[in-house]
Amino acid sequence: MTTRQHPPRHGAGDAATAERLLRGLGVSPGIAIGPAHVMEAGAIQVPEYCVAENAVDEEVARFHGAVEKARRQLGKLKSKAGTLPADAAADVATLLEAHQAMLSGSRLIRGVEKRIRSEFLNAESAVQQEIAVLAQSFAAMDDAYLAARVADVREVGRRLIRNLMETPYQAFSRLPDGAIIMAEELSPADTALLDPRRIGGFATVLGGAEGHTAIMARSLGLPAVLGAAGLLQGVETGDLVVVDGRAGRVLINPSDDVLADYRQRQALWRAEREQLKALSGLPAITRDGTDVTLNANLELPRELDGARDGGAAGVGLLRTEFMYMNRDDLPGEEEQYQVLRDLVIAMDGKPVTARTLDVGGEKLAGALADRFATPANPALGLRAIRLGLKEPKLLETQLAAMLRAGAHGPIRILVPMISNPSEMRKVRDLMRAVARRLLRRGHAIADPLPPLGAMIEIPGAALAADSLSSVSDFFAIGTNDLIQYTLAIDRGDEQVAYLYDPLHPAVLRLVQFTVEAAGRARIPVSVCGEMAGDPRYAALLLGMGVRELSMAPANLPLVKRRVRGMDLREATRRAGMIMGQTDGGRIAALLDDFNEALG
Ligand code: PEP
Ligand code: MG
Repeated sequence: MTTRQHPPRHGAGDAATAERLLRGLGVSPGIAIGPAHVMEAGAIQVPEYCVAENAVDEEVARFHGAVEKARRQLGKLKSKAGTLPADAAADVATLLEAHQAMLSGSRLIRGVEKRIRSEFLNAESAVQQEIAVLAQSFAAMDDAYLAARVADVREVGRRLIRNLMETPYQAFSRLPDGAIIMAEELSPADTALLDPRRIGGFATVLGGAEGHTAIMARSLGLPAVLGAAGLLQGVETGDLVVVDGRAGRVLINPSDDVLADYRQRQALWRAEREQLKALSGLPAITRDGTDVTLNANLELPRELDGARDGGAAGVGLLRTEFMYMNRDDLPGEEEQYQVLRDLVIAMDGKPVTARTLDVGGEKLAGALADRFATPANPALGLRAIRLGLKEPKLLETQLAAMLRAGAHGPIRILVPMISNPSEMRKVRDLMRAVARRLLRRGHAIADPLPPLGAMIEIPGAALAADSLSSVSDFFAIGTNDLIQYTLAIDRGDEQVAYLYDPLHPAVLRLVQFTVEAAGRARIPVSVCGEMAGDPRYAALLLGMGVRELSMAPANLPLVKRRVRGMDLREATRRAGMIMGQTDGGRIAALLDDFNEALG
């Protein structure tokens, strides 16, 4: 990773340091003020190896796949640029078009292909070598315009190499305290490397509010703005930046007055969080005496302190993907067991709901990336339990680790992306077989076997919840994916984020349907999507009959305050009125009334 260096500066001044305001999606609340760290994908260690003669066609195809991906990325950036003020939009579009042109049957493409075919070079190093030669010949031209294109040639080359290498490892450890990461895009795996004690927050050009990068930001309590068009034009590492993660604003080089205003808001925000902490020891009980279980969603084990400080009743969703991130190999049973055991012990008798691997879709598969072709439609492809059942070894390793961890405290096993009862049956059979094998090997395991639950996050699963309830010990409703699949909105795409609507009548009906089916089967049902952690929706979910909510630890106090302030009978009445509506706008208005009444 390289950075664009620039001496530190702040305050209003000449044109170069003039204040700039950018708008994007406020995905993780809080205000961060600090020096920008502009991320560019440079200085990548490019592997170099020989390709076997019979694998040359495959290598050329891999290269074309990277070119195609680069074209899509540039197209996306271009449409994003359309939302900028006219002048800036034209400049950015011209630049991106130049990059696109370099990818269309150009000398660069032909040159790389030739190097793969005649020199048997792997695609990454073929790109690197071709870029070096091209850059040299551009620089030597007696034309200032063409000479200036050298930087573009290099940037296109870096984009191709990044795409070929799939996983850009980032090193954030050497950044100044409070640094604000500014990037075109951050993957969930990159975000997992951000230490909230040292990093102030981040802002990116691409990314939607419900993607895993946004979820990771909320979990870590890092203020973040995603989908901010034009973010990287005219910002240098070292510039002073304000990120307002609630309003979705990024201010570059704020004037002294604006800065003072944001420092005040930041102090207020921190004071409010301190006040909320006082709630952590109090029970989550409604005014009319109904207990509500408020659990924590954990993305990373280091969030455990936050879950305990927030008074979580348990872990309602442990996303085990973290064990597979930022590494080239797969974690084995022993390693996973130790991580899970430590978590279970740390929760001190409170249940831990461990979800089996949910990779694929927009989540980074890390070490698995090489083993499976990228599907044309990742969100609908070999993802989550589909991958686990296709690669039973992967699933068995996880189940074994979970069963063994269950010997140290209560654990529940949750299965993502269930679409039909036969998947649940297969997982249960596998779990029993793994249990027998562990006992034969002399391991202590959970006794009785842990409850096995289905995530309800596919509309078809919600509609067939009655049949799934007969093979599941509990349900966990994943509203993030449920909304994505019900409304056909890519949850990670900022361009369609405006359509992502938790209050769409279809979404609410699917939730209601699932809650009622669980009630008929007398199995517990929780909501663990992001809706559960938003106090605005929490009141409605409780009114619909949900008694268990699981959320990012930072949201626990906010939701608890809402629970403690509400009367369940009133919530049930209001939810009934809301569910009688067919118009999204009317639903939102009624819910606003309800929340206002709660204060
Ligand atoms: C969900 O889809 O709501 C969910 C909780 O799972 P994830 O966000 O990890 O896909
Ligand atoms: Mg999901």
